[in-house]
Amino acid sequence: MRKCLVSFLLLVVSLCVELPARADAYHAKPKLVVVLVIDQFRGDYLDRYRDDFKTKNGFNLFLKQGAYFTDCYYDYANTITAPGHSTIGTGAYTNGHGIAQNEWWDLKRSTTHPISSVEDERYAVVGDPASKETGASPRNEQASTLGDEVVLATQGRAKLFGVSLKDRAAILTSGHASKGAFWVDHASGKFITSTYWSKQLPAWAQAFNDSGRRDLATREAGAKPGHFYEEVGAHPASVSYLLDFAKSLVAGEQLGRHDVTDVLTISISSTDILGHRVGPDAPEQRAMIDAIDVDLDGFFTWLDKNVDGGMGNVWVALTGDHGVAPVVAVAEKLGMPAAMFDAKKLAAEVNDRLNQRFSPGKNSKYLLGLTMPYVQLDPRTLEQAKVTEAEAEQAVAEILPAALEATLPPEEKGISQVRLPSRPLIRRVYTRTQMEAGQIPATEEGRLILHSYSSSLGWFVMASPGMYEMSQRTGTSHYSSYSYDRHVPLAFYGSAFVPGTYHDRVAPVDIAATFASLLRINQPSASVGQVLTMAMRPETGESVSQKAVRE
Ligand SMILES: [Zn+2]
Repeated sequence: MRKCLVSFLLLVVSLCVELPARADAYHAKPKLVVVLVIDQFRGDYLDRYRDDFKTKNGFNLFLKQGAYFTDCYYDYANTITAPGHSTIGTGAYTNGHGIAQNEWWDLKRSTTHPISSVEDERYAVVGDPASKETGASPRNEQASTLGDEVVLATQGRAKLFGVSLKDRAAILTSGHASKGAFWVDHASGKFITSTYWSKQLPAWAQAFNDSGRRDLATREAGAKPGHFYEEVGAHPASVSYLLDFAKSLVAGEQLGRHDVTDVLTISISSTDILGHRVGPDAPEQRAMIDAIDVDLDGFFTWLDKNVDGGMGNVWVALTGDHGVAPVVAVAEKLGMPAAMFDAKKLAAEVNDRLNQRFSPGKNSKYLLGLTMPYVQLDPRTLEQAKVTEAEAEQAVAEILPAALEATLPPEEKGISQVRLPSRPLIRRVYTRTQMEAGQIPATEEGRLILHSYSSSLGWFVMASPGMYEMSQRTGTSHYSSYSYDRHVPLAFYGSAFVPGTYHDRVAPVDIAATFASLLRINQPSASVGQVLTMAMRPETGESVSQKAVRE
């Protein structure tokens, strides 16, 4: 009898584990999908610091219980926060979703300042009457997201939300049809949204802002009030602050308790705010990652108790929006060529040379901005000088490499007894005119460049710098087509996936494609991702498993 019971239980267990019922968004299988993004979280960190992770439901949720991909690389050359989040959300690259930079000049909307990727002057900030920030919306994101598609498929019954310290990370990952996107006011640290979503904060969000949680985070970080984003944001205290807000959201909106699948995107910005200052190899960044492990353990343990059916009914994808280069001094110390250049000096030098060519003796302003890897040109002054777009862009492409060289100290002559510092260089330059016409060499780099095209930038060229090059004097950054900027982790947790480590070359665009396929919905409007079938549990139809039970 007991033997019978044991084998019956084994059968039930094996049916539950190995033959999951068909997943789909329409029947809330799963109840909740979480897209978790860690900003400037390079693909090597999880293994580099694996020994540090002692918790069960922190990073080990993915490393030990999930499907972990070691080789996930962005397939474009503009590895920056706003395009990264949009790429994760939409499963498309910049040539699909249109977001090329964190901010850019759009003369139709402003002739006085570059607009941010999510800035929208038609809306006002909600949640902090003292906020000096402009309203925001996903207006520049020219593709639907995974969350948008879940909302469309369920005709609005699914609830979609996005949270982060950064507006662009909260908005572009979640999308257009969200019921709310929340980020912090840079000065106060209060969670805010914009009138694109609602005229006032939901009661649970207002209660969170009024709870004193912000003062606690400020004290934990040892920060002065009034500089929340810069000071608290670079401290691990901001991670638990964000995740506590996410808990309030899940509880307040009853996410994971509906008859269709809900979607939540969470983006942790703190690794990026700190990482730019100290670099990827600093003990401070390691301490930040270890703190995130503990905070994630707390969050997912809480989620297990607060979603119908617990974590068994939740799927999570973990990734990063871009990687990062080592600090120049650190790379040099290890014997690698690494160099810095001054982007402001370079822009001035390019502008001088354009004047020499098109308007000798004058000092016209031909550049709108130079934020690597893009140089934006001003069509107003160039048209005045009777220069066409193709001529102007070609001129900048020719001028850039020599202009950079001209901003550097002269090279030392003679034989050196010690290793000389490396000199930054521009390897290649591509013009918008060439990119739009598809006249880019059919090389590996050419593919990355074409994926970085956006018509939103007007007249521009795109520069390919040398490796480990920084367009700033301190800290480090990310903006290149090199592997260190493109490598991020990708991991899935949830009943649909076969736990294990996968060494396939995959990309962050695969997240939306994979989830959409499993949820039986349309992939996002510009999706180019692959469905990662190698990590999916073989699915057996319900009729087959029921037949097995009867037999
Ligand atoms: Zn960054």
